[in-house]
Amino acid sequence: MRKYVIMGVQGSGKGTQSALLADDLDLVHISVGDIFRWHVKNHTKLGAQVRRLVAAGELVGDDLVEDVVRDRLQQHDWNYGFIIDGFPRNRRQAEFFLESYDLDGVIHLDLPDEEVRRRVLARRLCSRCGMDYNLIAHRPSTEGRCDVCGGELVTRTDDTPDALARRLRDYHTKNDPVVELFRRKEYVMTIDARADKTTVQQAIRTRLGLPPHSGETA
Ligand code: AMP
Repeated sequence: MRKYVIMGVQGSGKGTQSALLADDLDLVHISVGDIFRWHVKNHTKLGAQVRRLVAAGELVGDDLVEDVVRDRLQQHDWNYGFIIDGFPRNRRQAEFFLESYDLDGVIHLDLPDEEVRRRVLARRLCSRCGMDYNLIAHRPSTEGRCDVCGGELVTRTDDTPDALARRLRDYHTKNDPVVELFRRKEYVMTIDARADKTTVQQAIRTRLGLPPHSGETA
């Protein structure tokens, strides 16, 4: 059983790196942002509560987020463990998490703000199947269309320069103390996230003492 948290600023590759690790080690990948986006898209009651905050890139209230995380982990579908991405995002969430779950490691992806801006503003998402693209690193073969389902590619509503500037400010004031809090428990591994995704994945595995990725990562 392996229980990991992955932290890092938007665009640092948390989703990509978690998916690679989860896929290979049979971990359940829990993305709190994806859970909220699913609720917004499917017009649930929770979706209505968080829609504006998610669209503006502002943090959802701690009580609500903690309920979502607790409910998700109570499903106990994680026989081999989990990797949670997008949580905790502030000191209170970190304390809640540390009280409730033992962790095997905190993967901290480190990326300078300038590189974050460059990457995030190039992100696109398929409006039909949700596939991620990036106009720098992963371009679709036909401009504006999903390679998988042909759906229209759109920009996430929270990937505008204004929303990003707000998220970066928020990130540093709220997340930096979380990294420090975890660091005192001595299981934070800070990984330079500027490299390509295969190199970053390998660096994570080396730090976790895991063998190289078994599948295709390119
Ligand atoms: P993400 O995909 O991780 O960037 O999350 C998208 C949005 O979901 C954020 O901008 C917040 O509005 C909300 N969200 C995700 N995780 C959290 C969290 N741990 N605490 C508060 N809000 C969150």
